[in-house]
Amino acid sequence: MGIVERMRLDGKKGFVTGAARGIGKATATAFAEAGADIAIVDLDIEEAKKTAAEIAEKTGRRVIAIKADVTKEEDVQAMVDQVVAELGGLNFCHANAGICINAPAEEMTYAQWLKVINVNLNSVFLTDTIAGKYMLANGGGSIINTASMSAHIVNVPQPQCAYNASKAGVIQLTKSLAVEWAKKGVRVNCISPGYIGTELISNAPDLVPLIEKWNAMAPLGRLGKPEELQSICVYLAGDTSSFTTGSDIIVDGAFTCF
Ligand code: NAD
Repeated sequence: MGIVERMRLDGKKGFVTGAARGIGKATATAFAEAGADIAIVDLDIEEAKKTAAEIAEKTGRRVIAIKADVTKEEDVQAMVDQVVAELGGLNFCHANAGICINAPAEEMTYAQWLKVINVNLNSVFLTDTIAGKYMLANGGGSIINTASMSAHIVNVPQPQCAYNASKAGVIQLTKSLAVEWAKKGVRVNCISPGYIGTELISNAPDLVPLIEKWNAMAPLGRLGKPEELQSICVYLAGDTSSFTTGSDIIVDGAFTCF
């Protein structure tokens, strides 16, 4: 079998959090295109249902929508249980839900700090350990987390210390779980995207005017597209990445190179 066939995900079952739109929608689409059955997990269940129907129609795969707040342990446990019950197992997942709050550190409230750390980092601990526990007991699996180039650099000019710290935490959590589970059949990796044109940016009135400034700093001179993260995630989810664990893969058009 050639490499393209070996990269397919036929027969595998997975879920993506924050998949109603943006990066998660793109990777969920790619997983289904590669042959997997998928759960679209999001707080916004109406949008998640639309996305699930769209991907099912496009790919012919089984695609379900599940409402979950990834910061709530009971929601994440119920979501994993539902994926296993309705899709018939769990081979991979993409812990991707995240938010950004921009505020100067001296003005950021503790509630804002906690919210970002909770959605971006604590949720990844919950998702990875609850999904991981199932995978450890059921033949292994592959976990992908969404970190960010903000784990590597301090973005400017917008002040976003909580976001940057949360994403640095995601990388070290990824590496820690990868080492703990290396000999137990569960691989854990993360991706660190650069600026990607999604509603995370277009819905934030304070960020939209900054796009031109970021593009001027970017070697490729533009934002990335969610689709430009698809192939790396299909690779990480599948069996051809069997020696790849504990990796953080930066996909940023060289933004962090200088
Ligand atoms: P987005 O805002 O377009 O989509 C995020 C999705 O997550 C939304 O559908 C939202 O409803 C969902 N969500 C938010 N909080 C949730 C919660 N508590 N429980 C369940 N779902 C929740 O964002 P995006 O740009 O697609 O970002 C996805 C991930 O990629 C985030 O972790 C983000 O930090 C990261 N990222 C984004 C960029 C970028 O430039 N867009 C760059 C690097 C990393």
